[in-house]
Amino acid sequence: MSLRDKALPPARRLLASLRATPKTKILATAAVGMSLIAFGAAGVAPYAPDASELPVTVKVEELGVPDLAGQIDAQRSAPGSFVAEERIRAGDNLASLLDRLGVADREAAAFIRSDTEARALTSLRPGQRVQAVINTNGKLLSASTLIADQRAERRLVIERSAAGFIAKKEPAPLERHVEMRSGEIRSSLFAATDAAQIPDPVAMQIVDIFSSDIDFASDLRRGDRFEVIYETFWQNGEWVRTGRVLGASFKNDGKTYQAIWFGDAHGENGGYYDPEGKSLKKAFLKSPLQFSRVSSGFAMRVHPISGMWKQHKGIDFAAPIGTPIRATSDGYVDFAGGQGGYGNVVVIQHGGSYSTAYAHMSRIAPGVRKGTRVSQGEVIGYVGTSGWSTGPHLHYEFRVNNDARDPNSITAPQVQMLTGASFHQFRQQAAEIKHRFRLMSPEPTQLAAR
Ligand SMILES: [Zn+2]
Repeated sequence: MSLRDKALPPARRLLASLRATPKTKILATAAVGMSLIAFGAAGVAPYAPDASELPVTVKVEELGVPDLAGQIDAQRSAPGSFVAEERIRAGDNLASLLDRLGVADREAAAFIRSDTEARALTSLRPGQRVQAVINTNGKLLSASTLIADQRAERRLVIERSAAGFIAKKEPAPLERHVEMRSGEIRSSLFAATDAAQIPDPVAMQIVDIFSSDIDFASDLRRGDRFEVIYETFWQNGEWVRTGRVLGASFKNDGKTYQAIWFGDAHGENGGYYDPEGKSLKKAFLKSPLQFSRVSSGFAMRVHPISGMWKQHKGIDFAAPIGTPIRATSDGYVDFAGGQGGYGNVVVIQHGGSYSTAYAHMSRIAPGVRKGTRVSQGEVIGYVGTSGWSTGPHLHYEFRVNNDARDPNSITAPQVQMLTGASFHQFRQQAAEIKHRFRLMSPEPTQLAAR
């Protein structure tokens, strides 16, 4: 019996719990990779109140989970009181909510209706949770809910005190979870991340992380695979937001790229490194086009000339009009404007002998003119068909001493390496991430290698 067989039942349970969603069928592929995940769901069920908005979540691990409702827990143990929890339903009003919570307290209801802070309780969206601590007479001792305050990371707390009720908004202590997902490319990246229930911000991080090595618009192949490990933040069992990708592995056209996040002691100011400690950030991005959900559908239908080094000494990237074009490296603008066959073109000097040119733009980004400093990834214009162009595309030139060259033939400048103590520290972190990659890998040889 393999490790995977042992762990299949929880995955099946997950699938069963997802039967209600239309994505069940495609999820099956992704679920195989998650089969070793433990479902120690202390109050966090893999349940999404609004499937269109919240990802179904598999809880993998709790890292330093704070006691969220410490206050409420304290009162929970107080004799003669209990905790009730309800979700807002469509058409709810304060009376119906309090009724379901078991609150029979005119004073509390009057306070909630009149207090400027507390009133937020009357305008919650369906699906949101409200917790209340109530005594046996139905009197409200306290109530709390997550409120949609900018980044939705604040909590509204209403409390009974000796002087009457008070309401306050306080920072929401967030639980950090680490999740693992895997998927396989069948039509496009986003189709695969959707099937694996990976939120868009995580998909976009994957694209950014590998942007020096993979052009997600033209390099993807059917059968490419990925594994991703990322943070999510929760409050009281409610999904709040995604965090950072901690590790990602991408097998593209037979070649596997791995990325491991490594930051300072506070987990900040870091970057992504391959398992040998080599930075994944290179001097030039592989593609000047900004990859997005909008352009990704186009991606797999790229016409034959695009992405290829051609006789005319440039690379043509087919893309819809308006697709943002990014500077592939840091530099300053040497030329921005109309230039014959190039149409609207921007030329960037990168120091040394390197420069890049971006032609046929529909328009140049505001503020981009001769002398403007630009950084890698900055949007400098938009795809168009100006100049001598047969259809919307970006003509991209990589020049060495003003001579167009095939960028794939240029040896990349030296990349940053981790050394010494930080490399030693990195190795330990990398071992943990690599172990997780193996857990998600479909290849039995890799499992056997453990
Ligand atoms: Zn061209």
